[in-house]
Amino acid sequence: MCGIVAYIGNREAYPIIIKGLQRLEYRGYDSAGVALINKAGKLNVYKRKGKVSDLLDFVKDEDTSGSIGIGHTRWATHGEPNDVNSHPHYSQTKDLVMIHNGIIENYAAIKEGLTKRGHTFLSDTDTEVLIHLIEEIQTHENMKLGHAVQAALKQVNGAYAIVILDKNDTNTLVAAKKGSPMVIGIGKDDFFIASDATPIIEYTKNVVYLEDEEVAILRRGQELKIRNLKDKVITPYIQELTLEIESIEKGGYDHFMLKEIYEQPRSVLDSMRGRLRAYEGDIKMGGIVDHEKKFEKAKRIIFIACGTSWHAGLVAEYLFEEFARVPVEVEYASEFRYRNPVIYEDDIVIAISQSGETADTLAAIELAKSKGATVLGVCNVVGSSIARATQGGSYTHAGPEIGVASTKAFTAQVTVLTLMALHMAKVRGTLSETRFRQLCYEMEAIPSKIEEVLKLNDQLREIAFIYKDTANALYLGRGVSFPVALEGALKLKEISYIHAEGYPAAEMKHGPIALIDEEMPVFVIATKGANYEKVVSNIQEVKARKGKIIAVVTSGDTEVKAIADHVIEIPETDEFLVPLISVVPFQLLSYHIAVMRGCNVDQPRNLAKSVTVE
Ligand code: GLU
Repeated sequence: MCGIVAYIGNREAYPIIIKGLQRLEYRGYDSAGVALINKAGKLNVYKRKGKVSDLLDFVKDEDTSGSIGIGHTRWATHGEPNDVNSHPHYSQTKDLVMIHNGIIENYAAIKEGLTKRGHTFLSDTDTEVLIHLIEEIQTHENMKLGHAVQAALKQVNGAYAIVILDKNDTNTLVAAKKGSPMVIGIGKDDFFIASDATPIIEYTKNVVYLEDEEVAILRRGQELKIRNLKDKVITPYIQELTLEIESIEKGGYDHFMLKEIYEQPRSVLDSMRGRLRAYEGDIKMGGIVDHEKKFEKAKRIIFIACGTSWHAGLVAEYLFEEFARVPVEVEYASEFRYRNPVIYEDDIVIAISQSGETADTLAAIELAKSKGATVLGVCNVVGSSIARATQGGSYTHAGPEIGVASTKAFTAQVTVLTLMALHMAKVRGTLSETRFRQLCYEMEAIPSKIEEVLKLNDQLREIAFIYKDTANALYLGRGVSFPVALEGALKLKEISYIHAEGYPAAEMKHGPIALIDEEMPVFVIATKGANYEKVVSNIQEVKARKGKIIAVVTSGDTEVKAIADHVIEIPETDEFLVPLISVVPFQLLSYHIAVMRGCNVDQPRNLAKSVTVE
């Protein structure tokens, strides 16, 4: 969700904060704001509805000097996106200002009490209530700011990553977090705070990931101090970042999304590197070796995820059931966590999340753990909350994904989950040695096959041009291609705002067929495999009603070619591995359609990359 950046040290804070906010803009972006204290001790707060660029225009002629400051990009949860609701927010006396990522769930009750005690509020946000509460405790109890923050946070339910600036103490920043991410960068004689490491990387590689219910005091010229809400002193665990600066820049592409689509041959390879040993007929996954016995005996696998990661879980359902003969359930984390689900100790729960910060998935993990299940994670961001909350698992190694619409993270997730399914099959002895090796060799060839699909870009741009003005689209697939249909539809709707639905091809006649007329593009995955003839019949049903068929087929196909309006030929692979390559044309089609419609591809409206509120 929102982005937080703060700085304290000897340099000018404003350029560091602005550059950091731009790096984080993919997380949430309906408003932006900064607060800085200049040399004379004056606190300047500037905030604006819109993007960071709108804020830049707004402060053009203002005083933005100072070597201490905080900045925020907002993704509104409480109160519409407008100038007043933008962060930072003031306390009652205006001595304190705060930025916040998350939701204070009991803000209404706290606000009522504060109002009775004479507080007046400028905004509709939950954030403003918290900074008022902190100040009230600070003055009434005559406490230092850090202690007042501890006391206030004990009264709060919900999620937060906050940073506070005090007009009367120009040498200190106070930060705290619970449920929302926060990284502290430790420079030579300065500190950086951000929601993830991307704003920090060019200044220092030494970082501390703040844990839940920890409060950090960052004083100019002193060491970082951390205490938890129980006032226990915590020794900061300083880690070295492995992220490279090039990986978070566009590198000549018009959009991050396009760059990330083109990175897939590489990111899929990176996700298999050191794990897949096709020649030896073996798969090694460091993060699950300790759980091999569990894999052998597991009665069930439950995937929990949201959005595109949930689609990766659906692909995995087919693979784990087919290869490892284990029953699988795939759950939306947001539903699972509130359903009192039946979980057994011999269940393996696998949480999938690109950011590793998804609030619902994190809560679902805690629930599964409390019921005694083994909980593993598949996430992309190293050191993320989910990686730390799970008992094991595998990173996807896709590299930073900045485009809000997930592309390379999806294929990396499916890659890792395929390897896990194969590994589990090996442990359980459910695949013959020949079939296992055959699948390993097919996996090895996937990156070069994605490379082949990327060469279809010109053809895909032409198809995009024909359908760019459609109001609706249908995506159909069967078996392991059904989740790809869902993912294709999601890609189109999230970046081009065209209404799209994914359906199992055979289900079409139970409803969506009523939508088909000569205006309706129907994207179908009709690659060779057990369901091929059935899908061809579904295509005939669409054609009989004059729908337009855009079919993804196996290279050399003639049957579908004869009836479809367009065919997109992709290289042949094992039918269970097709999603890794068939999703790529859908990503490119959605990308081109969105660009042609003038949409903001990397930052689609209303969406945020890392959903850190439930
Ligand atoms: N709940 C706060 C608001 O609506 C913070 C939202 C965010 O994380 O950006 O302002």
